[in-house]
Amino acid sequence: MEKKRVYTFGNGAAEGRADMKNLLGGKGANLAEMNLIGVPVPPGFTITTEVCTEYNELGRDYVINVLKGEVEDAIIQIEKLTGTKFGDKDNPLLVSVRSGARVSMPGMMDTVLNLGLNDDAVEGIAKKSGNERFAWDSYRRFVQMYGDVVLGMKPHSKEDIDPFEEIMEEMKASKGIELDTEFTTDDLKQLVKLFKAAVKEKTGKEFPVSPWDQLWGSVCAVFDSWMNERAILYRKMNNFPEEWGTAVNVQAMVYGNMGKTSGTGVAFTRDAATGENIFNGEYLIDAQGEDVVSGVRTPQQITTEGSRRWAKLQGISEEERSAKYPSLEEVMPECAAELIAVQQKLEDYFKDMQDLEFTIQDGKLWLLQTRSGKRTGAAMIKIAIDMLHEGYIDEKTVLKRCDPEKLDELLHPVFDKNALAKAKPITHGLPASPGAAAGQVVFHADEAEEWSKEGKQVILCRIETSPEDLRGMNSAQGILTSRGGMTSHAAVVARGMGKCCVSAANNLIIDYKTRSLSINGKEIKEGDWLSLDGSTGYVYEGKIATQDADLDENFDELMSIAEKYARMDVRTNADTPKDAAVARKFGAKGIGLCRTEHMFFEEDKIVPMREMILSKDEEGRRKALEKLLPLQKKDFLGIFRAMDGLPVTVRLLDPPLHEFVPHDEKGQMEMAKVMGISYKDIHDRVEGLMEANPMLGLRGCRLGNLYPEITEMQTRAIIEAAIELKKEGITAIPEIMVPLTGIVHEFKAQKDIIESTIHEVFAENNESVEYKIGTMIEIPRAAITAHKIAAEADFFSFGTNDLTQLTFGYSRDDVAKFLPMYLDKGILKQDPFAVLDQNGVGQLVRMAVQKGREVKTTLKCGICGEHGGEPSSVKFCHTVGLNYVSCSPFRVPIARLAAAQAAIEG
Ligand code: PEP
Ligand code: MG
Repeated sequence: MEKKRVYTFGNGAAEGRADMKNLLGGKGANLAEMNLIGVPVPPGFTITTEVCTEYNELGRDYVINVLKGEVEDAIIQIEKLTGTKFGDKDNPLLVSVRSGARVSMPGMMDTVLNLGLNDDAVEGIAKKSGNERFAWDSYRRFVQMYGDVVLGMKPHSKEDIDPFEEIMEEMKASKGIELDTEFTTDDLKQLVKLFKAAVKEKTGKEFPVSPWDQLWGSVCAVFDSWMNERAILYRKMNNFPEEWGTAVNVQAMVYGNMGKTSGTGVAFTRDAATGENIFNGEYLIDAQGEDVVSGVRTPQQITTEGSRRWAKLQGISEEERSAKYPSLEEVMPECAAELIAVQQKLEDYFKDMQDLEFTIQDGKLWLLQTRSGKRTGAAMIKIAIDMLHEGYIDEKTVLKRCDPEKLDELLHPVFDKNALAKAKPITHGLPASPGAAAGQVVFHADEAEEWSKEGKQVILCRIETSPEDLRGMNSAQGILTSRGGMTSHAAVVARGMGKCCVSAANNLIIDYKTRSLSINGKEIKEGDWLSLDGSTGYVYEGKIATQDADLDENFDELMSIAEKYARMDVRTNADTPKDAAVARKFGAKGIGLCRTEHMFFEEDKIVPMREMILSKDEEGRRKALEKLLPLQKKDFLGIFRAMDGLPVTVRLLDPPLHEFVPHDEKGQMEMAKVMGISYKDIHDRVEGLMEANPMLGLRGCRLGNLYPEITEMQTRAIIEAAIELKKEGITAIPEIMVPLTGIVHEFKAQKDIIESTIHEVFAENNESVEYKIGTMIEIPRAAITAHKIAAEADFFSFGTNDLTQLTFGYSRDDVAKFLPMYLDKGILKQDPFAVLDQNGVGQLVRMAVQKGREVKTTLKCGICGEHGGEPSSVKFCHTVGLNYVSCSPFRVPIARLAAAQAAIEG
């Protein structure tokens, strides 16, 4: 049987279903399902995502050829349902052509509306609708959109001006009008003429007259837009594979711009910023969808309650509000009531917060789209927990609904309360995306990127953003716009990114030319500081200090559900009592990696540490180590105290010693003075520490084997601290970890020293504590000979930073020289230092766990490389049977959720 490439829907029937998102895209699958559950949807059809892949591989002619028959049949079906005819002079069928990937990619791909219009059809529409102006306005919009999207009229750089916009601006100026809505029918006729002439001039071809040519042109343009620069960037940022492709949805047009009884809007079944269970959204009378999201006109609220809240935030009186910005409930009560019923039906059916697009044509409501709405991290948790309590979903669904990476947003800073109390807002706008941000003002996306590369914090200020600004938005700390609403581009994209955003700020005038903005007469220039509160919508002059976020009871409930399902523990990488305490608050079940080297950089320790390093013999080293012992013991007392009752893995000294000494003359001179030895001595000794490849040199357990007295001192400090705390009733559970083992014998030699030191300390104190001795697995040879090492070690901790470095042979510190190029070319799909390479490095981990447990079934295995806090790597760790992952304190909640997801995914 021929492969089915086209799925039709309309009038309560559909060939597709909601669970066919991979094939029909999210939009297509839900359009089908809405038909099946009796929601009014204009009839149409979906061309599958598989065709997009065929298009990219086999080209345009092949695809048009194989699609032709099915598309013609599908058009006939729309004709039948609407009583119109494609290409007919008197009663033409007009369609929209829209993209729709399996996940929503807002604004990234192309759309063409009003397709089917030409000089004949426009007369037919004028007659049929009895509204000549509307017909010509639609035609004007079509030629403009088709010209931009299909014929390449859209400017490619920000310096170029859109030729259509230019023509319209000229006409407005010559007529002394300001708004598009002020064009007369004759103006619109003239605009169509001028637009077509502009097309001819730029492309050398006539604007296509045949609706079929228009349709194929648009379908192919949508497929092409899958590969446009911004869609590629969006996919990269979200890790969506290119192979997915986009579907194309062709649907009978319905019009929100047919006059005062028509309109269009966007709505959310719950609040996408806070998660509050309140239907909300925006609409415009006599408009098409693009008008609502472009931010050119001020959108109005759907519900009266929402409208009043909005007016309050904008400082608009109730009188002015109801006169100028009435709600849909006030303007079209019946349509609003139907919309409210439909949104409830959709939420009940899909059991998730929905993001809807609707159009009202001459008093009749149509739904154009429903999908799970994008939301902030806070809203994600609140909606999932509320829906659990409301009986919509179960605990496992709560876990699946919450994206671990999005928890990061909740952990983002808010303004320091004291600093905020002193600050006076200079204006306020809509709280489009929560969080607090301070930065230097820039006005262009590429500058935001450049400045942030230079290490500056920036606030990107735009009249309104567009998908071209994506990179800049991603680089900025926050986004401020003078136009737009809660569903405008800036708001939707910032929420998706978890960036703070204030949109439609009052009295904000942005002047790109002078690179300045003014608010109520106050001028702010490029480079000046602004602070934004995306949760309240307030904008402040200057830089306000930020503080850590407060986590609410919904977060706690999510974490306790995660706890219930996760099999792996989550520990933390921490080497200060403060970090340990933060991690413990986030639910860490111990420390998986305490890097002792950081401790030696503190004021009191760096001098004896350097003395130790520069000593010529063991005696000198021991003298210096004696000075270090009480200081090191104090470090462990603090950490064990913070982790009372939980295991703490302390890693013995790891880095090459040259990292502890100054390399410049000034530093060495100072050091010579402090230590009372000659500069030359210092200089020669530092030179002597130099190695060609220090990361492959004298470091890790090689240090402890060359200078066993270091291992002895550190072990003594650990065990003495544990015993001292035991007397205070505090339980320290030290796990002493040997770094960079490659050969079992180098581990065994260290273990012998550790054990004999422990027994010495036990005997001296007539006391003992529970302890373990294990090793990092971060050299491929250690993984390969894991069965030998496991016979000696109590635990393995995979140091996947070094294991990645040594397996790939990429220097951890220099990889940036070629990594971006590898990612660009697709040689690597992801940075292996951020996301565990499951097929290579991961296989070494898997093998080492298996081999280790063959000789010691109780062998405890964990990971402490950076991958321990990255969700996909955490899931892999679950599948290979690790007992725990360990990550930085602020990643602990993320890892806990990922561990729970891994457990329920099985
Ligand atoms: C590792 O190599 O993965 C590790 C945790 O150690 P470090 O990053 O300190 O080398
Ligand atoms: Mg390491």
